[in-house]
Amino acid sequence: MSERPTDLLQRVFGYSRFRGHQQAIVEHLVSGQDALVLMPTGGGKSLCYQIPSLLREGVGIVVSPLIALMQDQVEALRQVGVRAAFLNSTLDAATAAEVERALLKGELDLLYVAPERLLTPRFLSLLERSHIALFAIDEAHCVSAWGHDFRREYLELTILHERWPDVPRIALTATADPPTQREIAERLGLTEARRFVSSFDRPNIRYTVTQKDNAKRQLRDFLQAHKGEAGIVYCLSRKRVEQFADYLLEQGFNALPYHAGLDAEVRAHHQRRFLREEGIVMVATIAFGMGIDKPDVRFVAHVDLPKSLEGYYQETGRAGRDGEAADAWLCYGLGDVVLLKQMIEQSEAGEERKRLERRKLDQLLGYCESMQCRRQVLLASFGETYPQECGNCDNCLHPAATWDATEAAQKALSCVYRSGQRFGVNHIIDVLRGSESEKIRQCGHDQLTTYGIGRDLDAGTWRSVFRQLVSSGLLEVDAEGYGSLRLTEASRAVLRGERRLLLRKEAPARERERTPRSGVVVAATDQPLFGALRDLRAQLAKQQNVPAYVIFHDSTLRNIAEHRPGTLDELAQVGGIGGTKLARYGEQVLEAIRAAG
Ligand code: ADP
Ligand code: ZN
Repeated sequence: MSERPTDLLQRVFGYSRFRGHQQAIVEHLVSGQDALVLMPTGGGKSLCYQIPSLLREGVGIVVSPLIALMQDQVEALRQVGVRAAFLNSTLDAATAAEVERALLKGELDLLYVAPERLLTPRFLSLLERSHIALFAIDEAHCVSAWGHDFRREYLELTILHERWPDVPRIALTATADPPTQREIAERLGLTEARRFVSSFDRPNIRYTVTQKDNAKRQLRDFLQAHKGEAGIVYCLSRKRVEQFADYLLEQGFNALPYHAGLDAEVRAHHQRRFLREEGIVMVATIAFGMGIDKPDVRFVAHVDLPKSLEGYYQETGRAGRDGEAADAWLCYGLGDVVLLKQMIEQSEAGEERKRLERRKLDQLLGYCESMQCRRQVLLASFGETYPQECGNCDNCLHPAATWDATEAAQKALSCVYRSGQRFGVNHIIDVLRGSESEKIRQCGHDQLTTYGIGRDLDAGTWRSVFRQLVSSGLLEVDAEGYGSLRLTEASRAVLRGERRLLLRKEAPARERERTPRSGVVVAATDQPLFGALRDLRAQLAKQQNVPAYVIFHDSTLRNIAEHRPGTLDELAQVGGIGGTKLARYGEQVLEAIRAAG
């Protein structure tokens, strides 16, 4: 081996040290062995195969399902002087032929290829005639039949090992749950490969869960703290995406919709704008986001309940890849729970699958309702212990108060029972609060003994009570019908007074949502220079038609603004500036510093 990994890391990428398991993984691959890498989003997976591809002879073949993102990934590598290319269906024949020629002539360090392309006899025969440094299988969880990212072609990737048994393989994923990990190892023939499991903690992300009362207004308030920043708002359905995107536009945000119902071209265009422009809010279904490596996404907001804790973690993981402060904000209410339960029960899936989905939903509800440090709950669900309190989640920052809700729960449960277990939560709350609505009179519910016994609590508090009763299994939602509430086996102990119940007291929304401004913090005196550097970056990006972050990250610019290097040597000390970027942009950056005085 000619160059040491750390030297290459500094020379090409401009970073002074490896993170976490990176170095061990690099060395393992360079020595020709297979690896299975589990690292959270933003953990630094790419370098794990990029550096060995540069250190080993031949070209690194990267299998990725994310066609729309390959171009930017390749562009980022070219910016640091790596000879990278991609092959997928978006290339015209002439460009594809050019890439193939470069591959055969040994002129590539890295080649990104879509799985369906890789598996064609034509491409496999090209590979036979090339020298291969390694195979990297990115987004390896796509091999999992249970996951929503399943790609059939991934099942056939074992062919790589059969044909090239001596070429090391590395499979990478940010999916944390152990069953999926096992599935990946088995299906990709990597059971013997060494596993590198990183902590899945993302310390810079602040988790907040808030009770839904008016999701649009709550979202707008949350976004006030993120004006001008890029972020993602996840919704459950296409319709909701359209509604929220329209609303945010009305409110003056730079919002774009993204869902599977949109034209492929429109989708690609919106994704491109999100990546290339600053401060776009993408309102999307979960169809959006896999592989989005934009480093400066400052928030991920969920205005509907996601389907599982694992999905939630993946989605929120897209915030703050640059390590700077970021927000993960979830707004949910009983309506979400009812809706998701109905979706599970009414789906065509088999009983085994439904059972799995019910369990996942319960786990997610456990997270939402927990009064413990959110990070502890999240990491525990991935089998990781996080002993201390994180100090960077809503429960740590504003510990939830509890109240003795035993009596309220008894009233709620008996009202459900007396009205025949056929009504939804709004009606039950009306009965409890003694509403004089037409429906109540028609049903004769003003005659019930529970009519009006809950006037002491407001409707919002009752909704919170019911939500917590459902989440903790003390009430059941009839998911096949209209969401009527029923008692469960567990309700009895509460009704009989054998079990006391402490519930979370909802803090006023404003208080909980008030999070200090996140994002890149630049001292006031450095602001003018930081602004000038951003302008320079925007200009360079525009000239080359690439996203700004491919030129420099915000954190790099902030460091420059802080330290004001006067020479190229000093500039090279700033993280994220390797030899190629120094040569290309160094003088212009120094000029900007001099001009700022
Ligand atoms: P992942 O693919 O695991 O989500 P990436 O490979 O995109 O993560 O890396 C996330 C960010 O961290 C990138 O902006 C990358 O430049 C940066 N990064 C990765 N490794 C290092 C390192 N050793 N030192 C500094 N920054 C790093
Ligand atoms: Zn915490």
